[in-house]
Amino acid sequence: MDYVYFRQLLEKRKQAIEEIAAENTDASSVVDLDQTRVGRLTRMDAMQAQAMSMEAKRRRQQDLVKIEAAFKRIENEDYGYCVECGEEINQRRLEFDPTVLRCVECEEAS
Ligand SMILES: [Zn+2]
Repeated sequence: MDYVYFRQLLEKRKQAIEEIAAENTDASSVVDLDQTRVGRLTRMDAMQAQAMSMEAKRRRQQDLVKIEAAFKRIENEDYGYCVECGEEINQRRLEFDPTVLRCVECEEAS
């Protein structure tokens, strides 16, 4: 298990999420400005946009929690092993999502 490689992958993911979070703070203030200036958005649109941005924010926070958990598993040297059966998780699966906890078999069984 290449811990250095996966630590980098996780580090990159974390940075990407933090960048999106920073951009999104700007984007939502732009929407507010537009609304007061031209009244382009209806109340429903604004509420929907807000709900979506809150949902996205919630998802980003969940991802960050998962990433932190993965860092901890790297430290404990049990990263890359399925939490259900203890088998090694397929490398490609980890590359696709370095925060996965289960192997394909256990994921499909659950
Ligand atoms: Zn498994």
